[in-house]
Amino acid sequence: MTRAELKRRVAEAIDRRSDEIIGVGEQIRRQPELGFKEVKTAGLVEDSLRRLGLSPRARLAFTGVRAEAAGTRGAGPTFALIGELDALVVSGHPEADPATGAAHACGHNAQVAGLLGAAMGLLDAGALEHLSGRVVFFAVPAEEGGDLEWRMAQRRAGALEFFGGKPELVRLGHFDDVDLAMMIHTTPRPEDGRASVPLSNNGRVGKLARFAGRAAHAGGAPHLGVNALYAAQIALAAINALRETFRDEDTIRIHPILTHGGSQVNVIPAEARLETYVRGRTLDAVIDANAKVDRALRAGALALGATVEIDTLPGYLPLDCDATMARYFRDNAVDLVGESHYRELGHRAGSTDMGDLSQIMPVLHPYMGGARGTGHAADYEIVDKPLAYVAPAKALAAMVIDMLGDGAAGARDVLATARPRLSRAEYLALQRSMARREVYDGGAA
Ligand SMILES: [Zn+2]
Ligand SMILES: [Zn+2]
Repeated sequence: MTRAELKRRVAEAIDRRSDEIIGVGEQIRRQPELGFKEVKTAGLVEDSLRRLGLSPRARLAFTGVRAEAAGTRGAGPTFALIGELDALVVSGHPEADPATGAAHACGHNAQVAGLLGAAMGLLDAGALEHLSGRVVFFAVPAEEGGDLEWRMAQRRAGALEFFGGKPELVRLGHFDDVDLAMMIHTTPRPEDGRASVPLSNNGRVGKLARFAGRAAHAGGAPHLGVNALYAAQIALAAINALRETFRDEDTIRIHPILTHGGSQVNVIPAEARLETYVRGRTLDAVIDANAKVDRALRAGALALGATVEIDTLPGYLPLDCDATMARYFRDNAVDLVGESHYRELGHRAGSTDMGDLSQIMPVLHPYMGGARGTGHAADYEIVDKPLAYVAPAKALAAMVIDMLGDGAAGARDVLATARPRLSRAEYLALQRSMARREVYDGGAA
């Protein structure tokens, strides 16, 4: 059977399950859960994979679920299909969980529907009889940031080292046997067309800064206080003044928020807290901008004679999409959505932990449409269910057939030219080297 015939057979099997696949996407949309806490969603994935006759392993890095299926045409590379489980807190989202604030405003519910739909199609159609190597169906936790206090507490308790699901899964060895991987992310942006592949994405580090001053009566004796809020404010102004030093091609993004600015109005604030990401196109650009941000934070403390504690947290590495995989995806996407709806995108300034995987193996992170509104915003919604939920299932399954069909010729083609920058051990050492804590006493300076 040719690959084209097998793809058609698998697509027909997916069509027969389309109501069920849409049902999965809608059910997850209605039960949004935050990263590392996607218990119900992971349970749904585990049950679905088990019903397909697979033997999933669950509770990997808290909530990850992984099952593999071997092709019967002999040994070959292992290709992982990935779906992200988590939602994120978006205030004002009409479907936000009232208890946690979580909402599926990034469309990860569609990723899981696509992942399970691909598994259904491949297994229903008996595709494994025509494939070599192995396919892994991997639902992964916690791509979105946030929920930092809880994650910090888990880290102190030794339950977590990194704050992203994929870095944690790499650390725990659950990607050790995977040679190449892909996922499909939903996009609400009309300019992305119905299917698109970006060239690359920014990487980032996370930062927490805690300014400590001295409380005093704000009316009666302000001269006895050290105003931590003003120290933080000066740091923010200094960060903004640095923006002209960043080169356009480095696509630096720094977007601090003030998370605490005082306890009550008649007390000089003794504590103020900032949180920010520092993003950039290359790791060197992130490291350079990060050093400037540290300077700005110290400057705030120095001006007021306050102290600042700066925690730099390992974030996500820049994403590079594999060009060979992108070529295969293009052909499949054009078959599904038509040439005029396919786009090739340039660099994007957001970040994802698929970037981390891209530094250690060839990966692809395309987008497909079906959503409307703004990502991470209250107006985000899935409006075209077949495009958002069912088409990605077909695209993922077609990629499995391309990578693992014909003796896994596609995967061998990818692996022959891909040159991942880091080994897994080098990756972990690099991420660990990014973690840093500095205490700067501006009063002693
Ligand atoms: Zn997101
Ligand atoms: Zn996302």
